[in-house]
Amino acid sequence: MVNDHRILASAISGRHGKGMILALPKGRILKALRPLLHHSGLLAAPCPTDEATRALRFPTTEKQIDIVRVRSFDVATFVAHGGADIGICGSDVLMEFDYPEIYAPLDLEIGQCRISVARHANHATAAEAPSSKIRIATKYPAIARQHFAQRGMNAEIVHLHGAMELAPSLNMAHAIVDLVDTGATLRANGLEETEVIAHISSRLIVNRVAMKTRPQEVTALIDRFRDALRNKTQ
Ligand code: AMP
Repeated sequence: MVNDHRILASAISGRHGKGMILALPKGRILKALRPLLHHSGLLAAPCPTDEATRALRFPTTEKQIDIVRVRSFDVATFVAHGGADIGICGSDVLMEFDYPEIYAPLDLEIGQCRISVARHANHATAAEAPSSKIRIATKYPAIARQHFAQRGMNAEIVHLHGAMELAPSLNMAHAIVDLVDTGATLRANGLEETEVIAHISSRLIVNRVAMKTRPQEVTALIDRFRDALRNKTQ
């Protein structure tokens, strides 16, 4: 037990001794981030955009900055808890967790989509929701609850991590709340988008304590992404 504490303490002090941590999301957003990361000049080998590598932590061209690659839903949690100083995540994730520890200074204009309500395209055969209560399948329980509460409705949540498009036809839910881009996934599953809750894009996010305790390094990294964004779009 004592040893465990020592290991943890040295890991924590090692992490701070090393410098800053930038958390990137795996998957679709990481692909979209490639040009921006390229323009930032931070990428080194092994590269975090290489999906084949199983590594989770990567060096950068800056000795004092490391990149960690985590699930897109976890980026905000790593930054909020101080495991990472800076991160990149969708505004859907920021809305869902609503962490007061995070500030989001830069819209990276990638991963653009919307978070929407979708229902069975054929309302005649779909189970109709009673007027003040609705069952929603989603991986965004907080966003869905808040959206329907604003309409005076109590949303009962069926919390899924994927394939929520199946839930209405299997009578698990009256509707879903999920990300929509082209709408092809909804159409392929007999659903139609009925309400847009919010427009989504990826944001650069910063831990507020890191911003206070190491303002120069954090601001330099924000500026680096701002410049990369400008160069990428020129
Ligand atoms: P689409 O068929 O183009 O409307 O895309 C919808 C599917 O892709 C759903 O499974 C979404 O969860 C996922 N999706 C769409 N846009 C994004 C995004 N920006 N980030 C993560 N997942 C997304």
